[in-house]
Amino acid sequence: MTELKRIGVLTSGGDAPGMNAAIRAVVRGSIYHGVEPVAIREGYKGLIDNDLEVVNARSVANIINQGGTFLKSARCQEFRTKEGRAKAYENARAANLDGLVVIGGDGSFTGAMLLEEEHGIPCIGVPGTIDNDIYGTDYTIGYDTALNTVVEAIDKIRDTATSHNRLFFIEVMGRDAGFIALNTGIAAGAEEILIPEQENSVEKLMSGLQSSGRAGKTSSIIVVAEGDKSGGVFELARTVEKSFPEYEAKVTVLGHIQRGGKPSCFDRVLASRLGVAAVEALLKGESGIMVGVRDQQVVKTPLERAISKQNTIDSHLMKVAEIITV
Ligand code: ADP
Repeated sequence: MTELKRIGVLTSGGDAPGMNAAIRAVVRGSIYHGVEPVAIREGYKGLIDNDLEVVNARSVANIINQGGTFLKSARCQEFRTKEGRAKAYENARAANLDGLVVIGGDGSFTGAMLLEEEHGIPCIGVPGTIDNDIYGTDYTIGYDTALNTVVEAIDKIRDTATSHNRLFFIEVMGRDAGFIALNTGIAAGAEEILIPEQENSVEKLMSGLQSSGRAGKTSSIIVVAEGDKSGGVFELARTVEKSFPEYEAKVTVLGHIQRGGKPSCFDRVLASRLGVAAVEALLKGESGIMVGVRDQQVVKTPLERAISKQNTIDSHLMKVAEIITV
């Protein structure tokens, strides 16, 4: 075990439900192992502005059940510069930080990697993002909660869709990846699911709608990932309305409600596990890695790999989606 006196924890980039549970686990994991935890507010901005303080086990009481991040997250341009990172390091050094746990996504991990490369401070990444698009983990913190929020919203929309001959286009988050769209589309019984990983989505949609008309369906739910290549959900609705004038096309963009809400049990447990694993990795002298879970086990992936590689969408699940929408 490495002799560590103090470690810093911050949340950075897009917030996700369960980040609070991860902070709590880092703080309490540190205290358990005799290390002093230092909380840094507003991600890398707080490190540059020296907005940090030593916290104790009680500082993170009653947050495991809350969405968002009580430390706040930020997007910090200055940290993208060498000078910004040097300033951040100076403050980390002045605060006697022996390591840093960064809870965030790809961008935050890139920043952590650079900080470590340039200044030698050991950094561990904890994947926190609702998109589930980080390589090296089966699940990211916040993803499960977001799925449940989306399914609940689609269920409500279905009630109104079935009361009229309506086609509902529901845009869900996922700029580069269709994990949310595919899984919630299946779970909420969507007739069509459009994701960035799939080509010819418009043609597929049109033929799918034709067959569902033949199958006697009078209303349809179409789940569209933000990053789908068909030109955006509004454009898609207009195109479909032209070809199927018997339907009234409605668009719902779920937007930021997908990021909010109380974290699910799954996310709280995942965040607790990964927060503790991050502290223990630092204690073992590890650095430049992300902690994640694969096949129910905690695994570690070099930050460089986590950033540069992509999680691929499950092709069997795509087939399942196709089969169950007949
Ligand atoms: P996420 O971590 O959710 O992917 P961002 O991409 O916005 O979110 O990144 C969060 C923060 O990480 C940025 O505001 C910036 O401070 C830092 N960061 C992102 N990319 C880089 C980079 N290439 N170099 C240095 N810092 C970066």
